[in-house]
Amino acid sequence: MMMAVFYRAHWTDCPPLDANAAWSAPWGTTYGPDGSTYECVACDGTGEGRRDCSCTHRYDPSGRDCDRCDGTGYLPECESCGGIGHHPSIRGYSCCETPGELIDYLTYSARDGVADDDTPVIIFEGERTGTGIDGEPTVVPTRTVQVTTWADFRAKWA
Ligand SMILES: [Zn+2]
Ligand SMILES: [Zn+2]
Repeated sequence: MMMAVFYRAHWTDCPPLDANAAWSAPWGTTYGPDGSTYECVACDGTGEGRRDCSCTHRYDPSGRDCDRCDGTGYLPECESCGGIGHHPSIRGYSCCETPGELIDYLTYSARDGVADDDTPVIIFEGERTGTGIDGEPTVVPTRTVQVTTWADFRAKWA
């Protein structure tokens, strides 16, 4: 795959830009220890809840109870994550392909106002791995080209 240059607002509470930490998850969720998973919002990471067993016990003419749900038809597990308490993160940092896209994203989208003037903006080379939650590219970085701030970035590119 071809290397390209990408643009990203890298929040100060994120670990430093690093290929091993390059994971993405929905806005506002909590990452697991190595970032490769994020906590399930539906069950707060407990895995508890109620989901359909998808068994056929109710239609089984023998009347035997299902081993998994004892015939209740439901399991005490979160429907969203299947009872494991987390979801797999998306490999790669979410970022933009051009300075203009990053400015649009942080200025005119639902993310308006999330970046302060001194929020770090990182320009980096990397390999695209997929597509993030907002349709943006997800990228594993290989080399940092420049670190600037949101104010300086806007001044230069807007
Ligand atoms: Zn069942
Ligand atoms: Zn869950």
